[in-house]
Amino acid sequence: MKRVAHRIVETKKAGSDVCVVVSAMGDTTDDLLDLAEQVSPVPPPREMDMLLTAGERMSMALVAMAIADPGHSVRSFTGSRAGVITDAAHGKAKIIDVTPGRITEAPGKKHIVIVAGFRGVSRGTKEITTLGRGGSDTTAVALAAALEADVCEIYTDVDGIFTADPRIVSTAHKIDRISHDEMLEMAASGAKILHLRCVEYARRFNMPIHVRSSFSSKEGTWVLAPDPEGAEDMEEPIIAGVAHDNSEAKITVVGVPDQPGRAGQIFTTVAEAQVNIDMIVQNVSEADTGLTDISFTLPMTDGQIAVEALMRTKDEVGFESIQYDDQIGKLSLVGAGMRTNPGVSATFFRALAEAGVNIEMISTSEIRISVVTRADQLDDVLRALHTAFGSDSADGEAIVYGGTGR
Ligand code: ASP
Ligand code: MG
Repeated sequence: MKRVAHRIVETKKAGSDVCVVVSAMGDTTDDLLDLAEQVSPVPPPREMDMLLTAGERMSMALVAMAIADPGHSVRSFTGSRAGVITDAAHGKAKIIDVTPGRITEAPGKKHIVIVAGFRGVSRGTKEITTLGRGGSDTTAVALAAALEADVCEIYTDVDGIFTADPRIVSTAHKIDRISHDEMLEMAASGAKILHLRCVEYARRFNMPIHVRSSFSSKEGTWVLAPDPEGAEDMEEPIIAGVAHDNSEAKITVVGVPDQPGRAGQIFTTVAEAQVNIDMIVQNVSEADTGLTDISFTLPMTDGQIAVEALMRTKDEVGFESIQYDDQIGKLSLVGAGMRTNPGVSATFFRALAEAGVNIEMISTSEIRISVVTRADQLDDVLRALHTAFGSDSADGEAIVYGGTGR
């Protein structure tokens, strides 16, 4: 806290106006979740948000105190007081407006402003909401955009964005610059370094993000709009990085009648249960039975809800059974260069074959290839792919300064 305070004061002294968004310390949010679990299996979402916002509130006040101590002028604000207005969805609220009047008017430019991240207030219900895990990043970019900041710096426990999670791939190296589009794919594919919605927000408002370490003053990674000249540059790497996700599960709807409308029924049911799905695969139907299997992936935390919702439609849709599998891992290769360079898929699938990995699902976008494998193979595949695409760093191991990555 004192080191953070020192850094903030130095930045202010260097002549910048500073607004700081804090998240909770270390494992605080996970510890609060554990506490909730001990008293209630399914806590009311409103009360969950009341609990979880405590972590950010603690950080906010402590950082402000650490700054105020040597006599600097500082004011702290909760999300609602900072004008972070959201929709009403507890636990996964979306920011719909930022009205930072209190920050810009009341204290004037003399003060250093500290804002509690991850939280806002619903315009409709006036209740306190949270933005979903990792949401402080989104608060930071949203405030940066509203305050018309020059840059949003995100401080973390590694030197920047890496070509793979340095906790698993020790030869991962820091990326100097990455486009908003590539970062969006990385975040959507499970890279936890930046919250997905933070990157969406940054792209929409064209806000540069500088991801850097709180433990060193080294230059980190810049997330920027693509440089129109850089795109033609032969030195630009084809691949930005590999991301992995072990938080998803797979549902297979077995024996679905192969008739128009069945997939529509299935996915409407899932959507009405407020569950977001990711990859979808439908098998070719067996000619003699006229039945097919449809598999899709979804967040593991929504697995039970989706299975129950689907089972209620079993007779209506006419499928045979549901299989649920939470031992899957997803791996994604991201890079804008795959649009224009042939052979990326060939290298990708050859590397998987050499690692002896069986592929269960495949999906692609213009700049991404993702596969689902067994969860226990994920780390090995990640390393194999990283090597296959020549991303291994020549100069030693990546530094992870702290944190558990939990
Ligand atoms: N404290 C919240 C979390 O652990 C928000 C954040 O860290 O950005 O998810
Ligand atoms: Mg975080």
